[in-house]
Amino acid sequence: MATIKPIEGRSVHQIQSGQVIVDLNSVVKELVENSLDAGATSIEVRFRNNGLDAIEVQDNGAGIAPEDFDTIALKHYTSKLSTYDDLTHLQTFGFRGEALSSLCALSKFHIVTTRAVDGPKGTKLNFEQSGKLKGTSVVAAKQGTTVVVEDLFHNLPVRRKELEKTVKREYNKVLQLLNAYACISVGVKLSVSNQVPKGKKTVAFSTNANPNTKENIANVYGAKTLLALIPLDLRFEMHPSTHPGSTQSAQNRSTQEDNGSREVRIVGHISRPVVGEGRQTPDRQMFFVNSRPCQLPQVSKAFNEVYKSYNITQSPFIFADIRLDTNAYDVNVSPDKRTILLHDQTALLENLKNSLTDLFEAHDQSVPSAQLL
Ligand code: ADP
Ligand code: MG
Repeated sequence: MATIKPIEGRSVHQIQSGQVIVDLNSVVKELVENSLDAGATSIEVRFRNNGLDAIEVQDNGAGIAPEDFDTIALKHYTSKLSTYDDLTHLQTFGFRGEALSSLCALSKFHIVTTRAVDGPKGTKLNFEQSGKLKGTSVVAAKQGTTVVVEDLFHNLPVRRKELEKTVKREYNKVLQLLNAYACISVGVKLSVSNQVPKGKKTVAFSTNANPNTKENIANVYGAKTLLALIPLDLRFEMHPSTHPGSTQSAQNRSTQEDNGSREVRIVGHISRPVVGEGRQTPDRQMFFVNSRPCQLPQVSKAFNEVYKSYNITQSPFIFADIRLDTNAYDVNVSPDKRTILLHDQTALLENLKNSLTDLFEAHDQSVPSAQLL
C-alpha cells in the first residue's frame, strides 16, 4: 500500500498560512501594505491590548468592488499580478494573494466595512477559515476599507502562548516597522494607537500627509532629530563585470546597458559624520528598495562601517531608499517578503561605500548642524 499521500486541503492551508503570518509584525505589515496598494492617503492602525485582542486597520483607499467579494480572501487571488513575468516590474507591495487568506486561517478576520469609489453604501464581509465568503451585510461607511484581525493564532496554541508572553516586545517591534512605513509614505497620513485593557487609548505617533520624507521623520521622531541629519543622495553606475568573481557575459552586459538598468540611486537622510551627532544605539536605521521597507543586513553593515570611520563612538540615524530598476532585485524570496535578493550585491556594496565616503568627505564638518537646515 502506498504510504505517500497528499495532505488534506485544510491542513495545507493552515501550514502555509503559518509561514506568511509568522507574528504580529507580519499581520500589520500585510494590512498596511494593502491600504497603501489601494492608494490610501489616510491609514489608521488601532491596536487593542498591544495587538493581542485585535488589530484594526482603516483606510480611505479604493475600496473593494462587490464583484470581488467572493474571491478576495481566497488563496492566490490577487488584483496585482497574474503571471510570473509580472514580478519583474512589480509596482505594488502585494502580489501573491496570500495575506487575507492566511489571516482567515489563523485569526478571527473580517472586513468591517468596504466601500468602493462609486459604491452607494458600505458592506461588511465575514469569511470562513478557508477564506470563502460566509456572508455580507450593508453598513454605513465612507469610501475605503476597514479590516480587523481578532485573537491572532487562537487556533495555534503554541504560537498563541508565545505571543501572549512576548506581546509587549512584539508591539515595540511593530512600532519600528510602522515608523518606516510612516517615514517613506509621502502624502499619506498614518496614525497608530493602542488601547490597553482598563487603560487609556494612547496615540503612538501620527504623521500629517506631508509632501516629503523629512517632515515625516519630524512627525515620527521629533523635529529635533532633523538637526543631526544631512541629505543622502548617492548615485553610481554599476559595473558588475569589473568586480572579482563576476562571470557576466558580454551579451548580458550590453542588454543591461541598453535598457539603462545599471544606474543606482540611494536617497534619504543620515546622521552627520561627526562625534556627538550620532545615536547611542543603532535603533533608528531604515532601509528600503524602491520605497519597500526591507531587511538588508549587508547594506546596513556597509553604511555603519563607513560611518564608524568618522564617529567611532556612535551609530547613525539612517533612512536610505535604494532606487533600482525593478529587474535588479527579487522580492519573492521569503513568505513574508522582508528579505530582498539584490542582484550584484557585492558591486553595489563596493559602490555604496565609495560614494558614501565621498559624501562624508565633501561634507563641511566645521559647519554647525543648525546652520545646515
Ligand atoms: P495581495 O496583496 O498579494 O494581492 P492580499 O491577500 O493581501 O493579497 O489581498 C487580496 C486582494 O484584496 C488584493 O489584491 C486587493 O485587491 C484586495 N484588498 C486587500 N486589502 C484591501 C484594501 N485595504 N483596500 C482595497 N482592496 C484590498
Ligand atoms: Mg496584500
